[in-house]
Amino acid sequence: MKKIILLLLGLILIISSCNIKQGHPEKTTGKYVLVIHGGAGTILKKNMTSKKEKLYLEKLSQVIDSGEYILKNGGSALDAVTKCITIMENSPLFNAGKGSVFNADGKNEMDASIMDGSNLMAGAVACVQNIKNPILAARAVMEHSKHILIVSKGAEIFAKSQGLVIKPSSYFFTESRWKSYLRVKKKIEEGEKHGTVGAVALDTQGNLAAGTSTGGMTYKMPGRVGDSPIIGAGTYADNSTCAVSCTGHGEYFIKNVVAYDIGALMKYTQVSLKEAANYVILDKLKKQHAEGGVIAVDKFGNFTMTFNTSGMYRGYVTSDGFKGVKIYNKNFRNED
Ligand code: ASP
Repeated sequence: MKKIILLLLGLILIISSCNIKQGHPEKTTGKYVLVIHGGAGTILKKNMTSKKEKLYLEKLSQVIDSGEYILKNGGSALDAVTKCITIMENSPLFNAGKGSVFNADGKNEMDASIMDGSNLMAGAVACVQNIKNPILAARAVMEHSKHILIVSKGAEIFAKSQGLVIKPSSYFFTESRWKSYLRVKKKIEEGEKHGTVGAVALDTQGNLAAGTSTGGMTYKMPGRVGDSPIIGAGTYADNSTCAVSCTGHGEYFIKNVVAYDIGALMKYTQVSLKEAANYVILDKLKKQHAEGGVIAVDKFGNFTMTFNTSGMYRGYVTSDGFKGVKIYNKNFRNED
């Protein structure tokens, strides 16, 4: 009798452990993917010094390594995205955080957003001038407020109440952005009008996340808000489709709802991530003469870095061993 009871108990244990495994077939892929961008635009090799090129490639590699460390150790896509963007915001090389471009009044006004694909929670800030890391403020809005987008002084006050670091305007100043500002002010044609940083990730739990942070466009009207803090335009993540972060001429990304459009195309027409991104960036936006690009990863770990400009600072790493950082578009068309 005892033996039969033990046998039955054993059987129940085996069956229930099978059920646990079968209960989350898509949730535990064990696979991770991380893709970052540092802005798309007129980035030509002939205009780049080898020293500057090295600086960018080294920084992109450092960002990828830091994000991968989190994902490799079972950390969340959200944490990896936050970390990558924070590092790029702290670098004067990119148009986000320190190194942001100047608006028409000669001031920095920054935008950022973040989205968690596992629950569609999102947070964003816009037109902030003194928050050291706007992406951390966006995440605080998502996690510690009832709102999604908080702007200007209200966002600064909220960030302060969350213990985030506030910096004087002088912290965000960089000589090269100031020169760009003066050039645009004089209406002289110049190449680097915009830029942005972003990251998307799939973690080992099968969760997706996306984030974007920017100083916007040089000489923009004070108070202008681009696509980067707009959920659906510059950033979107949904575990059922993909995570997307955009860079480019914000007004076009807003009216084409680019980040959401890519996921929606996948959902409603069953096209692949790459097909959806190619259609939106290389066809739809190109026809509107709208410059820019996206990085995106889908729930299976497929990723794309699609842009219609001469360059996009970018990097990627996957648990399958793919890793790289790139700047240019060799054929001045989609290169990946
Ligand atoms: N999308 C950003 C904006 O319009 C700029 C950029 O990504 O280059 O504010």
